[in-house]
Formats: sequence, structure tokens, C-alpha cells
Amino acid sequence: MEGITLEQAVELLLERSPRPVREEVPLMEALGRIAAEDIKASFDNPPFDRSPLDGYAIIAADTEGATAEKPARLRIVGEECAGDFFAAKVSSGEAVRIMTGGAMPKGTDAVIRQEDVRAEGEELLIPYPLRHHENYCFAGEDISRGATLVTAGEELAAARLAVLASQGMASVPVWRRPRVAVASTGDELIMPGQPLSPGKIYNSNLYLVTGRLRELGCETEVLDILPDDPENGAEKLSQKLAWADILMTTGGVSVGKKDIMHEVVRLLGAERLFWGVQMKPGYPIIGYQKGETIGLALSGNPFAAYATFELIARPLLTKLAGRKETSLRRRRAVLEDAFPKASKGRRFIRAFYEEGRVRLPEQHSSGSLFSAAGCNAFVDIPPGTGKLEAGAAVEVVLL
Ligand code: AMP
Ligand code: MG
Repeated sequence: MEGITLEQAVELLLERSPRPVREEVPLMEALGRIAAEDIKASFDNPPFDRSPLDGYAIIAADTEGATAEKPARLRIVGEECAGDFFAAKVSSGEAVRIMTGGAMPKGTDAVIRQEDVRAEGEELLIPYPLRHHENYCFAGEDISRGATLVTAGEELAAARLAVLASQGMASVPVWRRPRVAVASTGDELIMPGQPLSPGKIYNSNLYLVTGRLRELGCETEVLDILPDDPENGAEKLSQKLAWADILMTTGGVSVGKKDIMHEVVRLLGAERLFWGVQMKPGYPIIGYQKGETIGLALSGNPFAAYATFELIARPLLTKLAGRKETSLRRRRAVLEDAFPKASKGRRFIRAFYEEGRVRLPEQHSSGSLFSAAGCNAFVDIPPGTGKLEAGAAVEVVLL
């Protein structure tokens, strides 16, 4: 088998990857985006000491020795709801009615809960002693100034955005989404919704590739089906070069009469990085580059397109997206079903992995995608492996 190894292809693409571009987006638009830098807290949150419940802010020492029979008696000197600010200093013998989230008035050091007291006019009766800082929430209890709230390369989930909002941030620096122009090639292809005619099939790869790109946070531009005509293909793709970080196509990469992508790469004036990666399915993938833009021409067989997308394109997309982790997760696992074919070269088969065990579907043809739809892993079968029995130890790549 000619061609380069999978690892070499990935490495080469990572080397050639355009640099991620930074942009600042409004916090409300940042869900799922990748943070472009570490973000640290610029102040303590909450910004002031506050009450954790509805009750009365008091001075704990005033309640010493209080009992139900002989309650401590304090004078209510004011009231403070969340958002108010009680400016006066509270002196011994005084209490301030306070609601959850209210700033602790100066001088007070504890809160007694509303349900435990009796108020008679301005007088407050407290039936037990409180400790210094009982029911008391300190400034900075949630976040202390300087704490790292988000690390560069992290995907911003809802709770992270809430943390940034609590720091008053209205926007956040993120990496621009990778821009990918996607196209399917093939005179046999018909778009879903159109009537099928003899010899034609529906374009399914477009949905697989575009869907996965979007799941990975890419911006996509979907081109019309490219006919098996290299001039036309090169023309359509060249129009996307300025916008796209990546051109991704399926079909037309092998040695058939209508395998136009070789000629397309030439007409684009692109540098071919590789043709052929030592794996089955998907071997004839072409990698190319024109300017900064990287082209990946995947094989048209649906499972081949899927496998090469996950194993070759995804690490590149992950890097371009600015994500921390670019390598796929691997696990050792025990095969629960036999795989009856020997593998002369390296082979990836679809599988379902769960807790160290891996099951195989019945159908493994690279033209079939149906059986891959419920799978979550590929078994990585090394070259020169005989047929695999149930119980064999294998290595899987998680999707
Ligand atoms: P190709 O790589 O163009 O030689 O295509 C290999 C096989 O995949 C052929 O059987 C094609 O009909 C099929 N195929 C190519 N492109 C698509 C597509 N977009 N959707 C579904 N099947 C496809
Ligand atoms: Mg074709």
C-alpha cells in the first residue's frame, strides 16, 4: 500500500492548519464557542458581605444568653431588601430587617431567620443566641478576585457564561468558527426532495459532513452538487477560497474515469499534500492547500467519508477551532462479536463501545452508512491482522 500513514496525514494537516482567528462576541452569542484566552475574575463576587436568608441583621454578641423565656430584645432600626443599601452603622441593641441577598449593614455580624423571631412593633425578640458570622455570606465567597474562570480552548457552556456574566462581562474573546465550504461531487447525485431517476442516488454525504461540521462548531457554506466535470468543480470551489479555511468535498478521488478531484486540485493551482492514506476505508483521500486554505477531498463511499472525516479532518478542525484537545480518545476494549475478515492493511470498522466492551453491527460495507448511524466508535485494526474472534482485545477510537 502506498500513501502516508494516518498519523502522518493528521500531523501534516495540523502543521499546515491556518491559525485560529480571534474575535470578541457578545456574551449572549457565546454559547458553545471556544474561549481564546484565560479569563480571570477582576473582583470578588458577591461584591459585598450579604445575607443568605430573610430575617434580621444583628450583632451576635447582643443575643448572648437569650432563651425562649428570656429573649434578647433589640430595636428594629430599618429595613433592607436585595438591591438596597443600608448606609448607617448599626450599634449594639439594634437590628435591621434584611432580605436574602441584602448587603450586611455595617456593624452587624449575623442574621437570624425571619421564622425564628417575634416582632412587636419596633421591638424584636430573639429566642436563642447567635454565633459571630452565623447565617452570614462573605464577599468573594463565590469567586475571589484573580481566580481563573475560563481557560483558553475551553468550550463555553451555559454555566460558564453565567460566571462571566456575574463578573459583568458583556462580551468574551473567542476563536472564530472554522469556515468550511462543503460540496458533494457526482453525476449520480440527486438532492433529497427531488424525484429519483434510474441510476441516480440521493446525496446523503452532504448531510453527514455538514452535520458533523456543525456539531463541531464550524460555520458551513453548502455548495450545489458538483457534476463530474473538473472545470466546473474547480470554478465553484475557487469562489470559496477567500472565505473558507477548509474546502471539503466527497467523491471523485479514486482512479475511476470520473474521479475529477485530481484535476480539480491541479486547476485550482493548489499544492497536493497527499493522496492516499494507509487505511481502509477511505484510502484515496486527497489533502491539498491553496494559499492558507486546506482542501480535503474525501472518498464518496459514505462510510469512507465518515471514517476519514473523523480520523483525518476532525483533528484539523479541532485545532482550527482553537480547542485544547486535538487527539481522539482511544480505549482498549474486548470485542463481543467476531469480525470475519482478515485485514491486510490497517482497517477501521464501525462499532458501539461501552465500558470496555465493543459490539459490532452486521453490515460493514463502506457503501453502507445505515449500520454506522448508531455507532460511537471505530475499532482500529492493525495491518496484518487475521479475522477477529469474539473476546479479542482491540483498540477503539471514540467518536
Ligand atoms: P466516488 O468516490 O465518487 O467514486 O463514489 C464512491 C461511491 O460513493 C459511489 O457508489 C457513489 O455513488 C457513492 N457516493 C458518492 N458521493 C455520494 C454522496 N454524496 N452521497 C451518497 N453516496 C455517494
Ligand atoms: Mg464520483
